[in-house]
Amino acid sequence: MLLTAFAQIRFALAVATGRSLPGWALDRLIADALATVREFGGVGPDGPEAVAGPALDESTRRAVQLRRFRAQATRAARETAFYPPVFAGLGLDPAKVEWSDVLRLPLTPKESLRDDPDAFVRRGAAVALRTTTTGTTGRPTRVCFSARELRTMTALSGLGQLLHGQLAPEDVAVMATSSRATLGNLSLAGACAQLGALLQPVGLVEPALTLELLAEDLRLPGKKPKPSVLSTYPSYLGLLVEEGLRRGYRPGDFALERVSVGGEVVTAGLRRRASALFGETVAFDTGYAMTETFPFAGMPCDQGHLHFEPSHGLIEVLDPDTGVPAAPGAVGTLVVTPFPPFRKTTLLLRYDTQDLVRAVAGPPTCRLSSLPASSDLLGKRRLAVRHAASWTTPRDVLEALEAVPAVPLPARFGFRDAGDGVAVEVVVREDGPAIKAAIALGLEGHGVPLRGLRLVRDKSELRDPFPLRCDLREPIFAAASPSSASVGLSAGGG
Ligand SMILES: [Zn+2]
Repeated sequence: MLLTAFAQIRFALAVATGRSLPGWALDRLIADALATVREFGGVGPDGPEAVAGPALDESTRRAVQLRRFRAQATRAARETAFYPPVFAGLGLDPAKVEWSDVLRLPLTPKESLRDDPDAFVRRGAAVALRTTTTGTTGRPTRVCFSARELRTMTALSGLGQLLHGQLAPEDVAVMATSSRATLGNLSLAGACAQLGALLQPVGLVEPALTLELLAEDLRLPGKKPKPSVLSTYPSYLGLLVEEGLRRGYRPGDFALERVSVGGEVVTAGLRRRASALFGETVAFDTGYAMTETFPFAGMPCDQGHLHFEPSHGLIEVLDPDTGVPAAPGAVGTLVVTPFPPFRKTTLLLRYDTQDLVRAVAGPPTCRLSSLPASSDLLGKRRLAVRHAASWTTPRDVLEALEAVPAVPLPARFGFRDAGDGVAVEVVVREDGPAIKAAIALGLEGHGVPLRGLRLVRDKSELRDPFPLRCDLREPIFAAASPSSASVGLSAGGG
């Protein structure tokens, strides 16, 4: 029974990866998966594989990807305003591109999409959402999606989370993200609605209020007695950890099972310190997704890679200076081409995400080794520093800082070019030579060529503060003050 159900799902998804599924088929898919999970109390080891699609051997994968690239390029060259001159200029027939031609196609810069987003929308597309990126690290970008794309996205997101054991009908999910992050929020809200899980959107409010909500006892039919899933940004999770421990909260006050964190670099120090507040058994779901290339996303593995489903899109890791594929182990910019049928409205070919990763050093030996991979996210290129020898990325600095207890979460810091290395500034709880030495040691241990270190006691003293998503804070009505314990968010937001 289990195998049969998953065989059906896999079959249906094989169809889905070739062309769009109608709404009824998506509903049927979810209903089948829910029934299976209900009957067997979980999913077998091939559950996640059913969502990701069958493993392809190298030559089949390349053939599938080239076919999909051609299909997307043909649409882009005929039906958008941006791409026709690109192909005409190169004298390329998009329907006949070979791999060598793909490499000749110029990258699509972020600025082009930001300056004229509608030039990337197909003529005749049934646009339903013109979403805006949150724009923490630059001017926001607009990206259009059709209702059908959104429908497919939420259905597959729900299915994926169910089969990965990340979300079930009895879960209570607290969503603490910017209300402007519409695409991610819609996706989680849609997944919850699809599975029958309870969604509690909170936004980025005072951490004390979110903590109150996470600790609250619930009496709702068919649901867990306390919130079980938290979806947020790493920097906001850091605020919760700091504020929670300061207020005397302990793991016994919560019943969180999973924390889904993304949109920024997630450090080992943050996970460890979050476990002190929410408990050692809390699982962390990390990954990589961005509005512009949604729903094409990276899945983390146990060896620290990000893996990408090849039938959903193409990833390339390119040397930021030369634009040729980065050498194994070298830092590169992640370039993404999302494929149909998931992307049929805003078309992007070789989109330069400006997110830095490393090209994998050798063939992966992890359980997702059949899927193309990069290293985990290192941070935005614009926020990294290039020096003679190599790069210092936000991850290098953040991993070192958030591992040190004297640095409050989230790490408030800045770093800049200092000749053959970088100068770092960071907010600490208390200053002193021992703390300074511990931080310097940590930075050097993470390969940061340290040429200066400045400790400050308040974030206002930072000269060049690193942007954090938790600072997209949303004000609430004054009546809902954290000091009045009985006032919940529902009262404040009503
Ligand atoms: Zn891996």
